[in-house]
Amino acid sequence: MTDKKLYDVCIIGAGYSGLVLAIKLARAGLLVCLTDLNRIIGRRILSTGNGRCNFLNSRMGNEYYYSNSKVDFIKDNHQDILQFIKGLGVVERELDGYYYPITNQAKTIREAFENEIEALSVDVFLDNRVTDVSKDEVFTVSTNRQQINAKAVVVSSGGLSAATLGSSKIGYKIAQKFGLKLTKLAPSLVGATSKDICLKELAGVRALGKVFYKDNSCEGEIQFNKDGVSGYPVMCISRFIGFDELSKSVGNLTIDFTSYISEDDLKAEIKKRFENHPKQTILKALVGLCNEKVIEVVVSYSKIYGDTIVEKLDEEDIENIIYNLKHFSISLTGTKGFDSSQVTAGGVDLSDIDMTSMEAKLCPGLYFTGEVLDIDGICGGYNLSWAYTSADIAARHIINNH
Ligand SMILES: Cc1cc2nc3c(=O)[nH]c(=O)nc-3n(C[C@H](O)[C@H](O)[C@H](O)COP(=O)(O)OP(=O)(O)OC[C@H]3O[C@@H](n4cnc5c(N)ncnc54)[C@H](O)[C@@H]3O)c2cc1C
Repeated sequence: MTDKKLYDVCIIGAGYSGLVLAIKLARAGLLVCLTDLNRIIGRRILSTGNGRCNFLNSRMGNEYYYSNSKVDFIKDNHQDILQFIKGLGVVERELDGYYYPITNQAKTIREAFENEIEALSVDVFLDNRVTDVSKDEVFTVSTNRQQINAKAVVVSSGGLSAATLGSSKIGYKIAQKFGLKLTKLAPSLVGATSKDICLKELAGVRALGKVFYKDNSCEGEIQFNKDGVSGYPVMCISRFIGFDELSKSVGNLTIDFTSYISEDDLKAEIKKRFENHPKQTILKALVGLCNEKVIEVVVSYSKIYGDTIVEKLDEEDIENIIYNLKHFSISLTGTKGFDSSQVTAGGVDLSDIDMTSMEAKLCPGLYFTGEVLDIDGICGGYNLSWAYTSADIAARHIINNH
């Protein structure tokens, strides 16, 4: 079947970015269509934020994003994003700067998009896997079911993460076909894998701390599993582990379980406890400094029995305990991979994109938005915000040039 219409814009991918773009273009009166390999639009949105969709953060700016290129152009536009989402009929809920729908259900956001897409009569071709794009006088987008003609094409096909939610390499293939470069790809916002012996004892523990991986660090709740480490701080630095996995140079993760206190103050605190209760066991003396199970492991790693009376410990024992509390090292093997990751780091090289329009420098009329580009954000609503921001930039340019 061939659709005879000539669309102003054909958007590849009815994910968050493609949907924002379709709505903005259709509201401006352009003839737009969306294609997606899934059978519903916005399939991935349902899984975001643990099913709650953390669509925004009040702390916004380029410092929350990574790329091989400069991303200074990312400004604080959180009010703009909020107005757009409210305009779809979503009532928001803000928790310490993190925004969710008041329903606490990601499906509210997906359905709000769907309602607006329907109200604007945007043509949506579901179960249409795009296989190729070619350009003659106009663009032809080939899917497994049809060919679609359009004056402009926007590639909003996302990255390689969470394949079961719908992902493909098509965005990267189209970029390469039209002469754009790709940067290396790595899974990000993903757990790290490890065979470290300490996990036998720490599996199941959730403990606060600051993780360090080479030059990167992040603070929050760390989760230990039998085959690795995850939780917010590990997820936030996981992109670096992911890239090191490519070059087989994965290092160790170091954890400061007492990041709220300096090394000197921790030493003073421990000495004070020892002086006040010299007959206490070491495990009792350290209670409350961090997670109980972590203390057990730290004491054992310091080569001290848990029932040792503190008056029997010497200066070196105290130094060892402090070292292990502040520099607990776990050897890593890599990450849990793209399928377990929330976002793909790397992508279409920004140096080949005009970042004021999202248009490919080498191919007028071909645009890229969202995760397919070489920009990834940390946890906290930053990736959906980038999907929005890039769609907004493309929409403004396409509308102005229509
Ligand atoms: C489990 C999970 C939780 C997350 N939670 C959050 C969160 O709370 N906050 C946050 O900011 N970010 C979160 N993210 C990241 C966020 O979902 C993505 O960064 C964002 O959806 C990217 O938007 P996009 O439109 O670029 O790509 P996508 O949303 O992935 O959309 C791309 C679309 O293209 C379609 N597609 C792909 N290939 C083809 C093809 N060949 N033909 C046709 N269609 C195709 C896909 O089916 C998909 O619908 C999470 C991700 C995951 C996996």
